[in-house]
Amino acid sequence: MKKPTLDIVSICMEKGMRMTDQRRVIARVLSGAVDHPDVEEVYHRSTAIDSNISIATVYRTVRLFEEAGILERHDFRDGRSRYEPVSDDHHDHLIDVETGAVLEFQNEEIDRLQEKIAREMGYKLVDHRMELYGTRREKTKD
Ligand SMILES: [Zn+2]
Repeated sequence: MKKPTLDIVSICMEKGMRMTDQRRVIARVLSGAVDHPDVEEVYHRSTAIDSNISIATVYRTVRLFEEAGILERHDFRDGRSRYEPVSDDHHDHLIDVETGAVLEFQNEEIDRLQEKIAREMGYKLVDHRMELYGTRREKTKD
C-alpha cells in the first residue's frame, strides 16, 4: 500500500525554488522515506550522504518544503513532528503506541462517513485528520 516515491527535487524545481546541493540531498532523503521520519532522522540520513549538512539546515529546509506544500507535517503525540511528502492518494494513520511504528490505511467507509457528518452539519469537507492509537493484540489461535 506504499505510495510511489515522489521526486521532491523535481517538484521544487517546478516551483522555482533555489536548490542548493544540501537541499537536494535533504529532498532526496525525504523522497525515499516511507516511514514518516522526524527532523532528527532526516538529519541522520542526510549526513550519511553529506556530512557537512547541519541540523539547522535540515530544520530550515523541512520548514521550507512544508510551507511550499511539498511536505505534510504530522504530530503523533510523541512530541516530535514527523514528515511525509504530500501526495494525492489520501490515507490515515495507525500509531503503535509501544513501538512508535506508523501504519497507513485507507478506508472508504470512514471517508464517506466523515463527509456525511460534515454535510449534515452544513459543511463541505475540505480536509480531515484521523489517527488511531493502538497496541498490538495478541494473536489468538482459532
Ligand atoms: Zn502517511
